Amino acid sequence: MASENNELRKVGLKVTLPRVKILQMLESSQQHHLSAEEVHKALSEQGDDVGLATVYRVLTQFESAGLVVRHNFDSGHSVFEIARGEHHDHMVDLDSGKVIEFHNDEIESLQRKIAAEYSYELVDHSLVLYVNLRLVDYGVLLPHSLYQRTPVNLAIRRGYTSRQLTF
Ligand SMILES: [Zn+2]
Repeated sequence: MASENNELRKVGLKVTLPRVKILQMLESSQQHHLSAEEVHKALSEQGDDVGLATVYRVLTQFESAGLVVRHNFDSGHSVFEIARGEHHDHMVDLDSGKVIEFHNDEIESLQRKIAAEYSYELVDHSLVLYVNLRLVDYGVLLPHSLYQRTPVNLAIRRGYTSRQLTF
């Protein structure tokens, strides 16, 4: 609580209960990328009633203050993550919605090189890969937990035969 209070004060935001609760939620959540709806739901599950409109407003204030970064993955609703200072890119699993963070030096320097070729200096970038699990690659080695996340009918619709899906 004390550290959240300090963080809020440091960026010039008054310490209010909803702000502290939402900041705590973002910092402690196992999932790094949360939508306003998910923050709202998680808060009410732990007995903290913060209205959805307030959650939206606070997240937007956090974004302006540089406390969180907003992403608009897959044209769906925005997700927010704590600004941790270090750069990373994202991969979004289209079936499960899972967000994977990655960093690749080659991609980083390639982007700087491309910008330089056009006489620009790279200031920032945002890279999102939209992905599906490669079921065919996994074959019988696909762990059960991964298999469960991909419904059979969805996989078949995407062209995998039922034989490939027998584990
Ligand atoms: Zn991230």
